[in-house]
Order: sequence, then C-alpha cells, then structure tokens
Amino acid sequence: MEKTSDTVASTPYQDTLDERKKRKQPITVIAIYPGSFDPITLGHLDIIERGCQLFEQVIVVVFRNPSKTSLFSVEQRTRQIRQSTGHLPNLEVDSFEGLAVTYAKIRQAKVLLRGLRAVSDFELELQMAHTNKTLAADIETIFLATSTEQSFLSSSVVKEIAKFGGPIEHLVPPPVILDIYQCFAKNKILEELAPTALPMVRATGGQPIDPSLETPCD
Ligand code: ADP
Repeated sequence: MEKTSDTVASTPYQDTLDERKKRKQPITVIAIYPGSFDPITLGHLDIIERGCQLFEQVIVVVFRNPSKTSLFSVEQRTRQIRQSTGHLPNLEVDSFEGLAVTYAKIRQAKVLLRGLRAVSDFELELQMAHTNKTLAADIETIFLATSTEQSFLSSSVVKEIAKFGGPIEHLVPPPVILDIYQCFAKNKILEELAPTALPMVRATGGQPIDPSLETPCD
C-alpha cells in the first residue's frame, strides 16, 4: 500500500516537523544540557563544545540539586560557564529550579544532552532517561561519550584536589581556577575561626551544620 501522510505513523516529532515544514520554518533542533556544574570542568566543556557542533542551539542549564551540597551558588556557576564559553555563538547559559523536561518544554527543546564517562554513570543516566521519557515522550536523551582524556574527571575530583591545595589548572576552565582557590583560601581562614562551621573544607566532609553555609564559596 502506498504510504500517505494518513498512513505514516505519526510521532510527536513528525507533527512538529510537518508543522514547521508547512510554515516553511527552518527546523532548529535545540538541545539542553542540564547539570549541577559545581563547578564546570573541562569534561563538561568538551561535551558542550561537541554539542554545539551537533545542534543548532545548545542551552546549558544549571540546576540546583537539593540532594547535593554545592560549593558554588547557582549564580556563580552560571557566571563561570558563561565566562568559559564565550567562544560558542550558538550556546546559551541559563538556570532553573524544577524538572529538566519542564525546562525543555518551555524552551521547545527536543534533546536532553548528557555525558557518559563510565559504566558507573550508565545505570543512573539510563534510569533518568527512561523516567524523562515517561514525563515527555517527544524529548530524547542523547548521550555523548566522554573524550578519553576527560574520562576520570568530575566536579567532585576537582574539589577534592583543590581542598588539599593541589593543581587544578589542567582540569577546569580558567575562570573557575581563581574562584576555587579564592574560595578555599577564604574558607581556610574562616575554618580557623570556626572549625566546625565549614563542612565543605573539612577533610571528613559531612552535612552542613549551618544551612546558610551550604554554598561556602558564595
Ligand atoms: P548532575 O548532578 O546532573 O550529574 P553534573 O554536573 O555532575 O550534574 O554532570 C552533568 C552531566 O555531565 C552528566 O551527564 C555527567 O555524566 C556529564 N559529565 C560530567 N563530567 C563529565 C566528563 N568528564 N566527561 C563527560 N561527561 C561528563
């Protein structure tokens, strides 16, 4: 049987594409790259740069993750990313409190971009992708495999090294370097004044005692 537009299975994508074609609108694929970025690392930057090659527009969205204690405030993280990505004309940086799919719908983004470093990332990322699919069937999660040289890199690794005064210049974009060193220097002084009040800089880690110190680099 000859396929007509009536017989072709209609997918949520197809509707959008057909509508745009009818309106002779260019088909722009917007991808959002959601994450904590506390702080942005060269691993994140690699995914961002490669995403910008693949999609017409990429939006990096900084989310406040209530289950993680953050070193930097959402505003600081957003600024750090903006300062690190000025060379990418099709990139936007934003922040949001809520679900990634909610933000994607607001911005009419069809792709959630995520990075995969190792099998350990895979289980959680796959679960998240499946969950998001149940929330928004027309939004696809696309994974980019990490570049080999960044496969070990995470924001936590950077914070751990910086906490003990180790070098981080090869791990994060330049705007982050100064912020981290300033933060740990400031907190070292504060820690000496109030040793129990700064969990982020204590070698043992732990839960914040004072919620106002939740983002100690702020
Ligand atoms: P989240 O709290 O959402 O996991 P992260 O900032 O830790 O936020 O990570 C955001 C995304 O970037 C995740 O998909 C993560 O797997 C990916 N990512 C983090 N570091 C790297 C890296 N070195 N290489 C590739 N992808 C990475």
